[in-house]
Amino acid sequence: MSEVLYRKYRPQDFGEIVGQKSVVEVLRASILKNRISHAYLFSGPAGTGKTTVARIFARATNCLNRSSTSEAFPKSNFGLPCNKCEICVEFLSGVGLDLVEIDAASSRGIDEIRALRDGIRSLPFKAKYKVYIIDEVHMLTKEAFNALLKTLEEPPAHVIFILATTELEKVLDTIISRTQHFEFRKIGEEDIQKALDMIVKKEKIKVDEEILNIISVLSSGSLRDAESMLDQALAASAGELEPEQIRKLFGVPARDLLLGMTKAILAGDIKSALGIVHKSSEEGVDQKSFLKLLIRNFRFMLYLKVDPNYEKELASFISDSELAAMKNFTKENDIKKFETVLNNLNDAYPLLKIAYLQQLPLELAILKIVGQ
Ligand SMILES: [Zn+2]
Repeated sequence: MSEVLYRKYRPQDFGEIVGQKSVVEVLRASILKNRISHAYLFSGPAGTGKTTVARIFARATNCLNRSSTSEAFPKSNFGLPCNKCEICVEFLSGVGLDLVEIDAASSRGIDEIRALRDGIRSLPFKAKYKVYIIDEVHMLTKEAFNALLKTLEEPPAHVIFILATTELEKVLDTIISRTQHFEFRKIGEEDIQKALDMIVKKEKIKVDEEILNIISVLSSGSLRDAESMLDQALAASAGELEPEQIRKLFGVPARDLLLGMTKAILAGDIKSALGIVHKSSEEGVDQKSFLKLLIRNFRFMLYLKVDPNYEKELASFISDSELAAMKNFTKENDIKKFETVLNNLNDAYPLLKIAYLQQLPLELAILKIVGQ
C-alpha cells in the first residue's frame, strides 16, 4: 500500500462524510437555498473532518454542474459537487488559483494574509467564488489576525473564507462574531468502525471485527487517527491480522485481562484486581487504553442492565463472546454497582495525565469501588 488510507479514502462529497450529520445538513441546505455566507468557522478536535468538509464545500459552491434546486438532483444528492467539471477538477488537484489553502500552524500566515488582502480585491479567475481555507487559524500571528479581521469586516461578495481550528478558545471573539460557526464533534465509535469496515472491504483485506472495534475505541473520535492505526496494523502484519498481535502493537490489554478485571472489580476482589493491574503493566499494556476499554465495557453493561434490548445494537459492533460475558455480568449486578464503578473509573481517567505511576489511578479507583 503506497498511499496512506486517510488520504486515499478522504471523502469527496458530503454523502461520504462520517459523523457531523447536522453540520453537513446545514451546509447542504445553505447551498440549496443559495444562502452562502462569506465567512465560516469550523471548530473541533483533530481528525473529525473540518478540512475535508471545507474542501467539499469549496467545490460545491463553485461546481458548474451543481443545480441549486433539488429537482435536478435526487434529493439525497442535493448540493453535492460533481467532482468532474473544470472547477471541481482544478480544486481537487489543489492547484486552482481560486482555492487558496493556508496552514497557519506552519507558516503563521503573515505573508499569506498580506497576499490574501491583495488577492481578495481581484475577481476569481474562473470560479464563482474565491475560497480561502485557513487551517489552525488560532496559530496566526497577531498581525496576521488583525489583517484577517480587517478583511472579514467587509468581505467582497466573491470571496468565501473557511477558517478551521482545533482550539476555539484561542480564536478572538471578534473573529468568531464575524463568521458562521460550526462545531465539529468527536466521531462516534460505531461510525468509525463502520468507516474502517468499508475501507478494509474496498482494500479486500480480511480483518477481524474485533480489531476494527479496538481501533475505533482507541482513536477517541478521530477518524484520521483510526485510519493511521489501521495503516500501522496492516504494515505490521504479513498476512491476516491477528487480534492478539494488534492488541500488543497498540498496548491494548488482552481480552482475558479485561474480562478478569471486570470480574474482580464486580466481585470486590481487591487481590485479583491489583494483581491484574500489575500483570498488565508487566506486559506493556497502555494504562490509558486499559482504562478506556474498562469504562467502555462498564458503560455497555449499564445500558444492557437498563434495557436488555440494547443487546441488538451492541451485537453489531462487539464480538459474540464479549457480549455473552457482559450479559452474565449484568445479570449478577445491580445498576447501583455499575454506577459506582463508572463514577470511579471516570474520575481516574484524567488523573493519568499527572500520575507519578501510570497504574496508580486505576489501582486507587479499585480501592474506592471496593470500599463503597
Ligand atoms: Zn463540478
